[in-house]
Amino acid sequence: MVVKPAKAGEVFVGRLAHGDDLLDSLTAFCASKKITLAWVQALGAVQKARVGYYDQNNKKYEFIDYDRHLEILNLTGNVSVRDGKPMLHAHVTLADDRGNAFGGHLAQGTVVFACEFCVQVLDGSELVREMETQTGLPLWRA
Ligand code: ZN
Repeated sequence: MVVKPAKAGEVFVGRLAHGDDLLDSLTAFCASKKITLAWVQALGAVQKARVGYYDQNNKKYEFIDYDRHLEILNLTGNVSVRDGKPMLHAHVTLADDRGNAFGGHLAQGTVVFACEFCVQVLDGSELVREMETQTGLPLWRA
């Protein structure tokens, strides 16, 4: 287990622009504010989506593309440091026009229709991601 103490810091509430890449625009916002530790939430809708599913046996992501309009029921993510830069790791729950929900690991290629977000900055020591051999994922190091 890796645990570090943190305190609630500044909170940013905002709206992304129509046509933004959901992952890139939230990451760019955090980079612009030099945010390296935060919790992120969002909701809204996307014009299309790309999400990953991590194949634990083969230790690689499989990507799923949804080329249709979807609701963002929830985005939950965090910001930490990878390769010296802020990295947003986020998962999304999406819903289609029948209310069916699905989702995955948010990937580039998810295009915003409208999106409201909240970034809760956390004041504490940095969490840094490093490749971890057991999972094959860039996890927080101790
Ligand atoms: Zn993930």
